[in-house]
Amino acid sequence: MTTSIDRSATQAPVNVWNMAQRQLDEVARLIGLSDSIHEFLREPKRVLEVSVPVRMDSGDLRLFRGYRVQHNMSRGPGKGGIRFHPDVTLDEVKALAMWMTWKCALVNIPFGGAKGGVICDPKNMSPSELENLTRRFTTEISIIIGPEKDIPAPDVYTTPQIMAWIMDTFSMQHGYSIPGVVTGKPIAIGGSLGRDKATARGCLFVVDEAMRVIDRPIEGARVAIQGFGNAGLHAAELMTERGYRVVAVSDSRGGVANAKGLDVKGLIAYKEETGAVAGFGGGESLNNKDVLEYDCDVLVPAALEKVITKDNAPKIKAKIVAEAANGPTLPEADDILFDRGILVLPDILANAGGVTVSYFEWVQNLQENFWEEDEITPRLKMKMTRAFREAHEKATRYKIDMRKGAYAVAVSRVAEATKLRGLYP
Ligand code: NAD
Repeated sequence: MTTSIDRSATQAPVNVWNMAQRQLDEVARLIGLSDSIHEFLREPKRVLEVSVPVRMDSGDLRLFRGYRVQHNMSRGPGKGGIRFHPDVTLDEVKALAMWMTWKCALVNIPFGGAKGGVICDPKNMSPSELENLTRRFTTEISIIIGPEKDIPAPDVYTTPQIMAWIMDTFSMQHGYSIPGVVTGKPIAIGGSLGRDKATARGCLFVVDEAMRVIDRPIEGARVAIQGFGNAGLHAAELMTERGYRVVAVSDSRGGVANAKGLDVKGLIAYKEETGAVAGFGGGESLNNKDVLEYDCDVLVPAALEKVITKDNAPKIKAKIVAEAANGPTLPEADDILFDRGILVLPDILANAGGVTVSYFEWVQNLQENFWEEDEITPRLKMKMTRAFREAHEKATRYKIDMRKGAYAVAVSRVAEATKLRGLYP
């Protein structure tokens, strides 16, 4: 069966969904994907848009909009985080769901790709308002989630506490505890050891591999990090422990830099106390965009999408860009970085540690058998290192960037599963 694909969406000004589709289009050409499979993979399997009425502390009722998108489930149940952010859009959630499909395939775990989001401003909501929002959103999407169907996890501005409310709501509706419905839970209710730092630890493992490939010493290598939440803060902590030197960090309120190296422990304590990194005494202040161009060896974007553009890509000084965030680099910027010889570790590789330990958490929940941390970290390292080597081997063989190399591995796996399963009915 051949079909002709309308690619007009890719001509539109870049939005993150067009960007995700364009990345797939390029790799489809490269690996000779059939038009029919390409068309199938270019669209989400299922999109659920929900209204979420919430009783606010004032007694007023407010209506929020939320989404759960399942992109592809050929290799297993859907997997992907839930984002609470004022800028959430359906297109963003669709892109994030597609990236989850490739990410799970790249690290070879038996999940498809999904993602959720609610348009809200959690920084201006009380804990009880957040709990009400989470419980009602869970109820609205409960028709398509579950341990065998689709398993949410944390993403921007969603926390282990929020995962606990999701688990409790879903369990109450079924009349018994179902920890496997969500990952990233607190340890006390079935979370996995090592999940909190898994995204950052996975990122560290692939940066180590990349340093080996470009033949540079780890000790003292300078790191700049944009975003200081789950991914960014733990990356700063783990990379410092490993011998890297963190020289600049930022969050939504600004940044701080010190060419000799920041006192990361002090910075974490300062962030915990004040809620921000800006104003930390151990360095000079820096704005959030300048952190990307700061003089360093490794740049870790760990906040939001579309921050590396054709305008700042020529000014990036790092030798390695490790995408802890999803979608930080626009396609035009990718080409510039590749031409400049900068090694970009794409999001589907660099932040896959989170979903990998989420997979371990789900396995432990299903087996009701919990592993020690020293069983988890080596398993994570093995998965991340293997994924790096497979993507790097493709990139080297075809003289393409690591994103295309990683996509080539991942898309081929999803296409194979899709073909083997065939069409129902
Ligand atoms: P988080 O909510 O814990 O932290 C987000 C951080 O980004 C905060 O420090 C916030 O201040 C900062 N930020 C927000 N807006 C910003 C802006 N405009 N400029 C600079 N910083 C800004 O979220 P997280 O879980 O660390 O997620 C960060 C990125 O990592 C996202 O792209 C997410 O999809 C990705 N990611 C996270 C995980 C995970 O396990 N948490 C897994 C894979 C990918």
